[in-house]
Amino acid sequence: MLSDRILNMGYSKTLEMTSKARKLKELGYNVINLSVGEPNFYPPSFILDAAKKAIDEGYHYYTPISGILDLKKKICNKFKRDNNLNYKISQIVISNGVKQSIINLFLSLLNKNDEVIIPSPYWVSYYEMVKFCQAKPIIIPTTIEDDFKITSKQLETVITSKTKIFIFNSPCNPTGSVYDKKELKNLVKILSKYSKIIIISDEIYEYIIYDKKHISIASFPEIYNQTVTLNGLSKSFAMTGWRVGYMGAPEWIAKACDKIQGQTTSCVNAIAQRASIVALTYNPKFLLSKIISEFKFRRDLVINLIKNIPQFKLKTPEGAFYIFIDISALLEDKKYNSYIKSSNDFAMYLLNKCHIATVSGESFGYKNGLRISYANYKEKIIEAFKRIKKLLK
Ligand code: GLU
Repeated sequence: MLSDRILNMGYSKTLEMTSKARKLKELGYNVINLSVGEPNFYPPSFILDAAKKAIDEGYHYYTPISGILDLKKKICNKFKRDNNLNYKISQIVISNGVKQSIINLFLSLLNKNDEVIIPSPYWVSYYEMVKFCQAKPIIIPTTIEDDFKITSKQLETVITSKTKIFIFNSPCNPTGSVYDKKELKNLVKILSKYSKIIIISDEIYEYIIYDKKHISIASFPEIYNQTVTLNGLSKSFAMTGWRVGYMGAPEWIAKACDKIQGQTTSCVNAIAQRASIVALTYNPKFLLSKIISEFKFRRDLVINLIKNIPQFKLKTPEGAFYIFIDISALLEDKKYNSYIKSSNDFAMYLLNKCHIATVSGESFGYKNGLRISYANYKEKIIEAFKRIKKLLK
């Protein structure tokens, strides 16, 4: 018999839709995958060369649990260079993607029934991981009218003596919302009053940002000591399969994560770590400038294509590579609602009827939503919307 924990855990909807799309493709269908958030470009060749060199030079063995010293040094430099954050080597833990950083943190910090505040729509795995740790997700709902952002008032209202963690994600997956300095300051004002609350700031989309500037919440000195900053190489260098994520954390938290990692995964793949040393020498902001313009072009393309679909409502995302649309109008429409009763139904309808993979809003804690990833080729995006429009007619 499986454990209650695993029986109560949902599947990762982002990865589930991707695997459904893959299966249909294997059956010969012309599937367009707008579900998973995975850049469709190649990692820079100097990173690939560094990995090959690492193999030739014999880096086949365990590394220190929390990562290679030279990589930690690069991460400290990166935090200083790009985020104005001072982290010491002892505050860095390198993990198998930010996903492992998050579960390490939750396992280190959460006791049964502790509360974790999560603004919604949220990335699918935050919610499931909190439940897995037997803690309680406390959701702050936002709407398209709020630009999918929480206010300091909403935040303060849900804080209780049980609040242990506030999870924060800007640029946000799935909405693409980006908090500006003033909005951050308002949140910081509240959080600094509750120094026991740990803020986990997931900044994996830091560089995929259009007209705004990314600001790390830990750069506000009032909350530095209660904040963990997360980042990784998956999105910025198109290295999703290499699994390299990292945190800058208060030392006592970094030590706990090191302890967990020592008992679970030992360390991150040595070759990937060696290559990451070279990757982090460069500021992706410059490396990515062409790719960012391409993403911006595709974002605007999707916005224009959506404008012709009256059942879809959207706000312009300022970062990441997702468009999160509100499909309330479609779910309320008599023409559809005898067979499409929820966003899950609609995502499955799109997949089965016109072979377009997306992810339902329900997976992100927003009932009437749909996430569309535009990390795909322009031609595929145009074709996908042609099919969707035809279907809805
Ligand atoms: N974070 C990406 C997404 O939301 C990758 C899949 C996952 O880990 O959830 O699509």
